[in-house]
Amino acid sequence: MLDSLRQPLETGDVLIARANFHVRYPARFQLVAAMNPCRCGYGRASGHACGRGPNCEEVYQARISGPLLDRMDLSVELPAVTPADLANPGDCESTQSVAARVAAARDAQIERGKSTNAALPDAALSKHANPDAEGSALLSRASEALNLSARAYMRILRVARTLADLDGATAVKRRHIAEAVSFRRRQDGVQTPLAHPPQKRSVSSAF
Ligand SMILES: [Zn+2]
Repeated sequence: MLDSLRQPLETGDVLIARANFHVRYPARFQLVAAMNPCRCGYGRASGHACGRGPNCEEVYQARISGPLLDRMDLSVELPAVTPADLANPGDCESTQSVAARVAAARDAQIERGKSTNAALPDAALSKHANPDAEGSALLSRASEALNLSARAYMRILRVARTLADLDGATAVKRRHIAEAVSFRRRQDGVQTPLAHPPQKRSVSSAF
């Protein structure tokens, strides 16, 4: 069933075909999804052991097909919140401040490409997200090392363009490509071996 999301994710509409007619409905949406690492929920959790042996995680995560995973641009592994985290939440940027940065990045996109990066046609994206020489070299190496699909390649460019916009940068640079690659989850369910959170940007040397 989840795989029926693949077409609307790609085209922004949904096609219903019957014997004598077909209808196309608009279906542009943003997919936000969350899942546990495994069926019992304890896979990868420190201080807990998964009770269903070594295959629990693999079998559970295989329920998301490769083609659907390929359409997810930002994948982040979150460790469980501990009581210590609740007691000492620490400092973080406020929602208002993040919202202002996002609004500025969107305005920059619309001014440049007459649309947000998400809706930019591939030809325009190639023009506006063309990375500098170091960024191109990193993207080529990452594409080979991670065996990226053509779709994934374009989606990384799209995310990198947005990261550059959030940075206030005119050009897409190596660090934006590195960060965009680090958000992709590999088809075998293993997070790309680059560090999060995003401010740790020394990770591009992995390629
Ligand atoms: Zn488990």
